[in-house]
Amino acid sequence: MQPKIYTFQEHQIPVKKIDRHAYYVIQKLRQAGFEAYLVGGSVRDLLLNRKPKDFDISTSARPEEIKSLFRNCLLIGKRFRLAHIRFGKKLLEVSTFRSGDPTKEDLILRDNAWGTAEEDVLRRDFTINGLYYDPENETVIDYVGGVEDAKGKTLRTIGKAETRFRQDPVRMIRLLKFKARFDFIVDPLSMEALYECKEEIIKSSQARILEELLRMLESGSSSPFFRYLYDYGLLELLLKNLAKHLQQSSIHTQIFSYLDEVDNKSWQDLTKSLERPILLCCLLFPILHQQIMMSVKDSQKQLHLGHIAKTSTELIHNVFHPFFHIPKKMKAIMVSILTSQFRFTPLQKKQVKRLRIPRDPFFSLGLKFFKLRVTVEPEHLKSYTEWSEAMFQYKKGKPHARSKKVNL
Ligand code: ATP
Ligand code: MG
Repeated sequence: MQPKIYTFQEHQIPVKKIDRHAYYVIQKLRQAGFEAYLVGGSVRDLLLNRKPKDFDISTSARPEEIKSLFRNCLLIGKRFRLAHIRFGKKLLEVSTFRSGDPTKEDLILRDNAWGTAEEDVLRRDFTINGLYYDPENETVIDYVGGVEDAKGKTLRTIGKAETRFRQDPVRMIRLLKFKARFDFIVDPLSMEALYECKEEIIKSSQARILEELLRMLESGSSSPFFRYLYDYGLLELLLKNLAKHLQQSSIHTQIFSYLDEVDNKSWQDLTKSLERPILLCCLLFPILHQQIMMSVKDSQKQLHLGHIAKTSTELIHNVFHPFFHIPKKMKAIMVSILTSQFRFTPLQKKQVKRLRIPRDPFFSLGLKFFKLRVTVEPEHLKSYTEWSEAMFQYKKGKPHARSKKVNL
């Protein structure tokens, strides 16, 4: 099939926006006689006038041939062999054109048959992600109608949507991710297929889906994304109990207030993005709070923090089990963040002379979540100010005490 070629006048992508190392890699591959283009997310983002996160390259050169051309190159992956070319901190991903059978309905388990440039785009997910950019000729090469779809703000699968979703159900999550991120409409056939195939989602790897969910919590579009997951019935399949809690309008409002806040630019800029356990706590805290308030009412007794920690652990299990596996350390941090909220806003109002900072390495994350919570529940601002002052004084007294960095 002949691709449609778009010139600069038609696509308006300024060549100076192309990462110079990506340009260099493409040039060097071409000088060695191979085909090479920019592909995927970066071409899409440039076309939509957004800043690309990374610049992936697709080429006719085989992994060993790529390696022989670049000193700073490492081949990774057994099943899906890729070349990583490093320039300082920057990593460029160079992949060899692959073929796949876009009409086969089976779940894709391996993907390593080499192919042509055309075959390589036909196995990609959406038309807007299936474009090549040739930086030397400043052209966009389009086999799949992606330029028209980008202009028409439409998300459309490459090939028959139902087949493509059955091959890899994570594509359904990706569809909602791009819908949330770009506010595009979904082509009716792709939408119909999503309803048709949504049950397939639990056949995918939990780790891949958890990673997509976490990335979306970090993305600045978490609120529309979770709304679509819920509205289109995927949340019910992945996080059944969370979907059940969201049926209560007060919980729904509160959880989405947290997500709206997390998406708020000031948080995104201030902290780059919030730590992953904090982000997951946004989905849990309103539910925990309601459960704790109910236990207090029922038992008429005082609840201590040990009880709250236990309820938090059970809630994490209840929401994420059985599909997702939350790593042990992440779980421990979430329990600490959730429990510390009841230290900041105790259930029984007591007169406290001096606020004591507990020996908990994750306490500062609890305080950071409290800061986020205050934007949703501004009545706690005074308490937040007092605790953050106490933390400041504590750190001043013990400059090395709470400097533990959380890497997740
Ligand atoms: P982001 O901006 O979130 O990184 P992206 O489109 O670049 O979005 P990546 O996960 O980096 O997403 O994937 C790079 C490219 O690989 C995509 O643009 C798409 O062409 C292809 N791709 C990714 N995931 C799939 C998939 N599940 N099925 C088919 N093609 C995929
Ligand atoms: Mg990408």
